[in-house]
Amino acid sequence: MIPKETIDKIFEAAHIEEVIGDFLPLKKRGVNMIGLCPFHNEKTPSFTVSPSKGIYKCFGCGESGTAVNFVMKHENMTYPEALKYLAAKYGIEVEEKEMTDEEKVKEKERESLMGVTAFAQAHFADTLLKSDEGKAIGLKYFNERGFNDYIIEKFGLGYAADSWDDLQKAAKAKGYTEDVLIKTGLIVKTEEGKTYDRFRGRVIFPIYNISGRPIGFGGRILDSSKSKAKYVNSPESEIYHKSNVLYGLNLARTPIMKAENCYLVEGYTDVISLHMAGIENVVASSGTSLTTGQIKLLKRFTNKITILYDGDTAGIKASFRGIDMIIEEGLNVKIVLFPEGEDPDSFARSHSAEEVEKFVSEQAKDFILFKSDMLKGEAGNDPAARSEMIKDIVRSIALIPENIDRQLYTREAAVILEIDEEILVNEIAKYRRKKYYKDKKDYSPPEEEPAKKAPQILLKDNTLNLEKEITRVLLNYGNFEFIPKLSGMPLLAGDTEEKVKVSDFIISTLLDDDIVLKESAEISQIFQEFVEAYEQDKVPSQQFFVKYEDEKVNKLAIDLITDPYNLHEWSKIGINVADETTDKVLARLVVASVYAYKQKIVNNRIVELTEQLKEEGQDEEKVFKLQKTIAALTSTRNKILKEMGRVVLPG
Ligand SMILES: [Zn+2]
Repeated sequence: MIPKETIDKIFEAAHIEEVIGDFLPLKKRGVNMIGLCPFHNEKTPSFTVSPSKGIYKCFGCGESGTAVNFVMKHENMTYPEALKYLAAKYGIEVEEKEMTDEEKVKEKERESLMGVTAFAQAHFADTLLKSDEGKAIGLKYFNERGFNDYIIEKFGLGYAADSWDDLQKAAKAKGYTEDVLIKTGLIVKTEEGKTYDRFRGRVIFPIYNISGRPIGFGGRILDSSKSKAKYVNSPESEIYHKSNVLYGLNLARTPIMKAENCYLVEGYTDVISLHMAGIENVVASSGTSLTTGQIKLLKRFTNKITILYDGDTAGIKASFRGIDMIIEEGLNVKIVLFPEGEDPDSFARSHSAEEVEKFVSEQAKDFILFKSDMLKGEAGNDPAARSEMIKDIVRSIALIPENIDRQLYTREAAVILEIDEEILVNEIAKYRRKKYYKDKKDYSPPEEEPAKKAPQILLKDNTLNLEKEITRVLLNYGNFEFIPKLSGMPLLAGDTEEKVKVSDFIISTLLDDDIVLKESAEISQIFQEFVEAYEQDKVPSQQFFVKYEDEKVNKLAIDLITDPYNLHEWSKIGINVADETTDKVLARLVVASVYAYKQKIVNNRIVELTEQLKEEGQDEEKVFKLQKTIAALTSTRNKILKEMGRVVLPG
C-alpha cells in the first residue's frame, strides 16, 4: 500500500505532457498538446493532452485518463506499479510502510513464487540448449518444427530432463525452498511425503504474464506412448490463474493494437508458428476453454477478434459458447476454419506469411455466416432443425450490447437465413426482454404486451441521461457563479439578480425535494461527494475526481470533463459548440438540466401511482388519496414543462 500523501505528491509532480512525451512526440496546439494516438491506428492526430487539466483524451478511440492511467495502459502496469514508475521519474521516495504484516507476507510469497518460476524457466532453457539430452531430444524436436534460435529464445522454450529430481536439485542448490517449489507446482508431493519434478522428459513452453514474467509452464511429451498425457500444465497458484492469462499476450499486445485485431488460436505451437510466419497479433487460450476474464483482457487492446479453428469439426460446435461470450462483451468476432486436417500451426509452417494472411482474410466469416454455414449442413430440409438453427442465431444476436450493431447483424441474418427481418427483430426483442428480466431477477417476463413494456425501459435510460447531464454540469461548472434569473425561468429559478454557485443551486434544488442521483453507482458516488462538500460549503475540484481511486468514477468524470460540449477548450478538434460559460447560456443550462430531470422524476412517480390506482380499485379512501397526489404531481410537472417550453437549449 502506498500512503495517500505520497500518491498526492506523485500526482502533483507528474506533468502529463512530460510523462506522455516520454513515449510519443507531442506538438503544441493552443493550450493543449496533440499527437498520434498510441492506442489505435491513426494518420491524423486526435490524441489530445491537456496540461492544465492533467488528463489526456483520444477523440478517435475514446481512450482517456490521467498520467497514471496512461502509464498503466501504455506499459501494462498495475496502479501501484505505475505510481512507482512516476515516483522514480520525479525522484519521489515511496515508503510502503502501511502494508500490513499479512500483506507483506503475501507480497513476499508472491515474489518468491515469481523468483523460483523465473529460475525454472532459465533452467529448462539451459537444459534444452546445453545438455546432451536436451539437444538430442528437445532441440531436435523444435528444429524439426522449423523453430530457429531466435524464436526459441523469444518464447523462452526449454526442456525438462527425464529425471525425477533434476529441477528440484538445481533449485534447492540455489536456495529455493521445497515449499515454494510445491506452491508453484514445479514439484509434486506424494501422500507418503516424497517429492518429484512435475515436468520430466518434456519440451517446455513457459507461460508469461502480460509484463513478460514467467508464471507457469506447459510441458509436451515427445514419445507417442498412450500412457502419458500429451500435455502437462502448471496447476493454479498464487501467481498463475489460468482463466486470466492468454498465451503470447506479452508479445502480442503492441502488434494487436497496431493491427486492430487479435487472432485467437488453440495451442502454444499455433502461436509460435504464426510468429515464425511473421504474424504477431496472436494469442492462445491454451489449457482452458475461453473465459470472460481472458476476453476482458483482450478488450483492453482491441475490439476485434478473429478465431482460427482447425479443420476438425467435432470441437467447433463446442466453441459456439466462446463465440457468444465474445459477442456479449461487445467485441466483433470473425471465424476462420482451416481445411480438413490442417491447423494454424501446420498451415503457417507450409505457407508463406502472405499466403497465410491472404487465406485468413479471405476465409474470415462473421459469426452469423459461420454459424449458419455450420448449422445449415446439419439441418438440411428438416423444418424443426431449421427453426432450432434460427433460434440459435437469434440468441447470439440478442447478446450484442450495441443497438446499431445488433440491427446490422439482424439485417444480415435475415438475408442469409432467408427469413423476414421483422420476424427476427421480434424474436431478438423477446430474448433481450427475457435476458433483461433474468438479469434483474425481479419477476418473470410478461409474455404478452411487449409493446407496453418496451417504452418503460426506454424511460429508464432517459433518467440516466438526465442524471449524466447534471453530473456533467456539476463537474464542469460546479464552482462557477451564475444568476438563475437569466435562465428565463423565473417561476422555477427565482426573480432576483443574486448570484449563486452552480453546485449550490443544483444540490439544494434537488435535496429540497429529497431527490438524489442514483441511476448508476458512479453517478451516485460523484453526487454524494458534491453533497458532502456542499454541507461544508465547498465544491470538489475536477482534479479530485480525475484522481479518484474508483476507476469507474474516475473514467466517468474524465469522460464528462472532456465531453464535446465543452470542446471550446479542446482547441482545433473541429467541433463548434456554444460557449456554455456565457452568463445566459450557463443559467439556462443549469436550471434546465435540473428541472428537466425533476420533471422526469415527477413523471415517473405519476406513472407509478397511476399503476397503483388501477390495483386499488376497491378501497375508496385510498383511491381518493392517490388521485389527489397524482393531481398535485401533475400540476407540478405541468408548471415545470410550461416554464421549460420557453427555453431553447444551446447546441
Ligand atoms: Zn485513440
